[in-house]
Amino acid sequence: DESEFAAFDEVAAQESGESAPPQPVLAVVGRPNVGKSTLVNRLLGRREAVVQDTPGVTRDRIAYDALWNGRRFTVVDTGGWEPDARGLQAAVAAQAELAMSTADAVLLVVDTTVGATSTDEAVARVLRRSDRPVLLAANKVDDERLVPEVAALWSLGLGEPHPVSALHGRYAGDLLDAILAALPETPRETVRTEGGPRRVALVGKPNVGKSSLLNRLTGEERAVVDPVAGTTVDPVDSLVELDGELWRFVDTAGLRKRVRTASGTEYYASLRTKAAIESAEVAIVLLDASEPISEQDLRVISMVVDAGRALVLAFNKWDLVDEDRRVRLARELDRELVRVRWAERVNISALTGRAVRKLAPALRTALDSWDRRVPTGQLNSWLSDLVAATPPPVRGGRQTKVLFATQAQTRPPTLVLFTTGFLESGYRRFVERRFREEFGFTGSPIRVSVRIRE
Ligand code: GDP
Ligand code: GDP
Repeated sequence: DESEFAAFDEVAAQESGESAPPQPVLAVVGRPNVGKSTLVNRLLGRREAVVQDTPGVTRDRIAYDALWNGRRFTVVDTGGWEPDARGLQAAVAAQAELAMSTADAVLLVVDTTVGATSTDEAVARVLRRSDRPVLLAANKVDDERLVPEVAALWSLGLGEPHPVSALHGRYAGDLLDAILAALPETPRETVRTEGGPRRVALVGKPNVGKSSLLNRLTGEERAVVDPVAGTTVDPVDSLVELDGELWRFVDTAGLRKRVRTASGTEYYASLRTKAAIESAEVAIVLLDASEPISEQDLRVISMVVDAGRALVLAFNKWDLVDEDRRVRLARELDRELVRVRWAERVNISALTGRAVRKLAPALRTALDSWDRRVPTGQLNSWLSDLVAATPPPVRGGRQTKVLFATQAQTRPPTLVLFTTGFLESGYRRFVERRFREEFGFTGSPIRVSVRIRE
């Protein structure tokens, strides 16, 4: 049954230029060693080594795209962390809370050969409060003799235990069917009612001032919490009025403390960041202007670009920036942020309130670009001049011709170039750069894909 489900590369999906509607998210939770990673690999249908020998190593990729029976969904493996001194039980329970507030369905994995442990029971107690579907996978059922042990897992109170052997693939198809039946067609977080407030993610590495900014924007008493978005656990979003317009700041529960104290902090932070970005239309990436731009900052920015969301860069703590730091920062911007030269930068101070009112106009500009479509006629008259002046480089004695282009999509704007052959990425970047010079698109990533016509 391997052929029926195929993992597909994010890059391939992007480059195909096909419309990629938001996908529902399945979070996989459970104790260490129950086989979560092995099961995720199995669900993805690939042998890529996600399983790590070193415990506690944060995996670089935590979300994967899966395809089963023609439906796409995202699998989030919440396993790459090590419980701290506060204990396994608390850590796994916190993991389950997080999964409930960020995913569309949760899969709890238990080890059938061990049976339900007190930790499994603690997690199940948390998950029983979930307003999202929860499935129970009884893993390591490598042969028939273990089937009676599966029935014992009804005691967890999560409904029918689904037997599976992640290692051998046994019953994996049945489990996938059950997962698809449980997952909604579209992710709940991204459903935007027509004309409703636009969705903003406020993200950045720890201590850049996210909570401070949110507090400044909402003001203690003006903080509006949307009861509809509230889950049984935590209100997920905040409605914030900026510049006479209502905005939905998504997944702000984490910024209101509570979840911040969870174990495996860095891992959680990155998971939460990714989830927030995915459920938003535009992200404000907050940086600490008083400190050098770091790897961690760049990672958050990449998450936004890779997710295809509009972007505003907010340099916070501007009250701490002196002349010397300003000069250094300008140099860092040239060196580190060339990839997102198109993003608007706002220099703010959550502490003093400096320039905070510039955020709303920057958000609007970014979203306008994100929504914008250049008509095909206009696009092609520009493109034919461009390729006439600077044709693609000749490779192996062959000259690829660019025939025409269309902006196949918005959100983010996606150009499809129809060509007679391969176009190297350097030329695609050149097209993107010139496209921006001509048409603008401040604040939005742009994707350029190529279709070869025989
Ligand atoms: P995680 O910590 O929950 O992500 O667990 P891993 O996926 O790293 O698996 C822990 C161990 O259990 C590894 O040695 C796996 O090979 C093994 N394992 C996982 N699934 C199965 C299974 O279905 N059957 C058996 N016998 N072993 C399994
Ligand atoms: P978060 O982890 O990103 O939510 O960051 P916090 O909002 O908790 O802020 C981290 C620290 O930076 C706190 O001590 C804040 O008081 C401080 N801080 C936040 N914004 C500013 C600012 O604009 N200027 C200065 N000087 N400090 C700030």
